[in-house]
Amino acid sequence: MRIDKLLSNAGVGSRKEVKKLLKDGAVKVNDVIMKDAKTKLNPEEDVVTVHGEPVVYREYVYFMMNKPQGVISATEDLRDKTVIDLLKTEDRILEPFPVGRLDKDTEGLLLITNDGALAHQLLSPKKHVPKTYFAVIDGEVSEKDTDAFREGVTLDDGYHTKPGVLKILKTGLRSDIELTITEGKFHQVKRMFEAVGKRVVYLRRLSMGPLLLDESLQLGEYRELSEEEVVKLK
Ligand code: URA
Repeated sequence: MRIDKLLSNAGVGSRKEVKKLLKDGAVKVNDVIMKDAKTKLNPEEDVVTVHGEPVVYREYVYFMMNKPQGVISATEDLRDKTVIDLLKTEDRILEPFPVGRLDKDTEGLLLITNDGALAHQLLSPKKHVPKTYFAVIDGEVSEKDTDAFREGVTLDDGYHTKPGVLKILKTGLRSDIELTITEGKFHQVKRMFEAVGKRVVYLRRLSMGPLLLDESLQLGEYRELSEEEVVKLK
């Protein structure tokens, strides 16, 4: 890995700031001043210091984003902005990607990481990781729907879902609900409601396994997971 990449990823500064530190002779590799930003290092073996302070290298990054509507849960897209476009340049260095997909018009919790093993574990259908959504439904959601979801419902393609836990928060011409499901089929929440003749008009993911959406994050904002959150996820 290039020394400038390693230093910016370790939080020493932006690529530009790192370049200046290198130029100023503040960076040493194995006790030797290193000025060339293109120098390749072995993060496992080489000892890097900045102004004499050792730099701790990390392999993985974990971000929680409050995804806004209008952006795509992908690393790149020809037409639309992606969630990765919302990250600061230095947070993109280790090439994180979104874990699973939220629709373009869905908001809420999205985990963004470069930890492929964790992503695999969270998305594996065998692990049944629960995901809870808040939704506004066009129509009057009733206990009949709660019962239907408890049994699983048949989607438009004939797939019968695993049980979902439906909590009715407010009912009327428009209803507020929370739904917990343990699968991640394409448009699953919207299609589950279609299966009972209702339409989702707003959808926000609140949790994924033990990870809860940090309500202090504004739409489009993100933060690193705490160590505790990462430990709980694994
Ligand atoms: N279910 C949906 O229908 N859409 C999402 O974005 C997530 C779950």
